[in-house]
Amino acid sequence: MSLDAHLDRIAEVKAGMSSAKVAYPIGLRELEVVSTRMLGSGLLRVTLGGEGARGFESHVPEEHVRLIFPDEHGQLRLPERDGLSLRWPRPLPVSREYTVRRYDPAAELLDVDVALHPGGVASDWAVSVEPGTRIYVAGPPGGYVTPEVYARYLFAGDITALPAIARWLEMLPPDIVGWAFVEVADASEEIEMTVPACVQLRWVHRGAVPIGHGDALERALREVRLPAGERTFVWISGEAGVLKPLRRWVRDELGVPPTDRRITGYWKRGVADFDDED
Ligand SMILES: Cc1cc2nc3c(=O)[nH]c(=O)nc-3n(C[C@H](O)[C@H](O)[C@H](O)COP(=O)(O)OP(=O)(O)OC[C@H]3O[C@@H](n4cnc5c(N)ncnc54)[C@H](O)[C@@H]3O)c2cc1C
Repeated sequence: MSLDAHLDRIAEVKAGMSSAKVAYPIGLRELEVVSTRMLGSGLLRVTLGGEGARGFESHVPEEHVRLIFPDEHGQLRLPERDGLSLRWPRPLPVSREYTVRRYDPAAELLDVDVALHPGGVASDWAVSVEPGTRIYVAGPPGGYVTPEVYARYLFAGDITALPAIARWLEMLPPDIVGWAFVEVADASEEIEMTVPACVQLRWVHRGAVPIGHGDALERALREVRLPAGERTFVWISGEAGVLKPLRRWVRDELGVPPTDRRITGYWKRGVADFDDED
């Protein structure tokens, strides 16, 4: 595969009729924390930059990177470059996945938005990290490319999905039609974001129920009625258990085919570094 083959493939999928994952050449970069700031009471934006950010690959709304942390002995083990990919040592280094919230190629700055929660390697790091700290970042391994053929878009998720939902809404054409449902604890976790005029944004308040529990998102989503005969793209992420009934609803009740839906467990209660795909 040539260094630019993924760009041709992205263009091909965009010009087609179905969504698909496209692999990129995977980089490993040493970046520097430039700043951190809270977005609402639940998300901490970490802005990364430095020379290592130059030429970062970012092309479509859904891309993620892996932040790599030292292990419990304080030792930082890194993957090695292997052609256009990375070879990871075993046991795997401690790493966590985060959405590329924004990459500004002119300023060479990368934003990741970290949902804060107790007892997480990445969350604890983000809370205490100081500007100037260096961190290795792997990826993005690829992007999820969606042709703009859909009559409607339905986005949903909890606060871990909010960075991706915000990016989808920012990067898709401003005339798209659809819905975005974001489950948060309460109004303090809501954030400002660019929302196309014909997308209804609904903040679903979970209240005292802890994140990853309850059916607030499912109840809100079940109010959606998809017009018959129109193609809808459905994207949902969040806690794996919460997604289970939603997967069934999208597949069996809404009848959305695999090419038009993307439902991904971003985390799982009681499991560190969980990853799951539809
Ligand atoms: C493709 C992809 C993109 C993602 N993008 C983002 C993103 O942009 N922003 C973001 O915040 N997360 C994102 N996530 C989710 C994030 O990777 C996980 O939440 C991750 O487990 C957090 O790492 P941690 O080190 O803080 O916690 P871990 O050490 O992995 O987990 C420790 C404990 O905390 C629990 N836990 C993990 N996450 C949460 C949470 N958010 N709230 C409450 N409990 C939790 C676990 O179940 C476990 O019991 C993404 C995940 C994937 C797969």
